[in-house]
Amino acid sequence: MRIDIHTHISPDRIAPPVLEGMTAQFGYPAVGVNTIDGIKAHMRASGVDKSVVLGVVERVDHVKPANDWLITIQDDMLVPFGAIHPDFEDMPGEIRRLREAGIKGVKLHPMVNQFFPDDPKMFPIYEEIGEDMVVEIHSGRWAHTTPDDTVYSPPGRVMNMIRQFPKMKVVCLHLGGFYMLDEAERELIGKDNVIIDTTWPPELKEVGSGTLAAIINKHGADKVCFGTDFPLADMAKDSQFIENLPIPDSGKERILGENFRELVGL
Ligand SMILES: [Zn+2]
Repeated sequence: MRIDIHTHISPDRIAPPVLEGMTAQFGYPAVGVNTIDGIKAHMRASGVDKSVVLGVVERVDHVKPANDWLITIQDDMLVPFGAIHPDFEDMPGEIRRLREAGIKGVKLHPMVNQFFPDDPKMFPIYEEIGEDMVVEIHSGRWAHTTPDDTVYSPPGRVMNMIRQFPKMKVVCLHLGGFYMLDEAERELIGKDNVIIDTTWPPELKEVGSGTLAAIINKHGADKVCFGTDFPLADMAKDSQFIENLPIPDSGKERILGENFRELVGL
């Protein structure tokens, strides 16, 4: 089973302005349409069976409506993960609501929501997530982060969070350190209770086949999951890149879906 564990779509009404904002921020064009129909068309053309749709909100008053929508889009192809905002008044209660509605995990975005993942104010949220729900966390910075910007989720602080909650199922996105692969290698790569994903827009091939194979070999192919950041990267191209890596074929199948299927119980 092929699973893309890292995608972003929106309700039809707001999808066009959201896409415009995304492509303006990152500086490269979208490869598809960021709606339910758009992602499903892209998945069918790319041979992907399921996609995890990650909830991200900038404003605290968007948490509930975003999660309401994510709850409704669950089906055979879409696996939505709930949105978290550290300033929401009863985040543990909202996580309980998500769990009761069948949602399997949540997305943490320290860069968007400006919090440090190892800040004790986050601990009640992690307590509620417990050992059953899966956390996907943005790890690293942005390509456009400047030296004056705060990096809220460097690999070291993500690892601190994992040390405090070693039984939480955590996937560190962007190979554990977007544009911070050296620190990711020091802090996260090769650690037992760390899972990473391969999301690296606009194209995974920018990491280079030798570097990616070395990261996978050091970390273990059973703890790496395929992700793209659709609509910012192409599922077919990035999965093809993984298929062509100089690593054993059994590891490729695990990365492209089996690891995540087992982790979440899909
Ligand atoms: Zn993303």
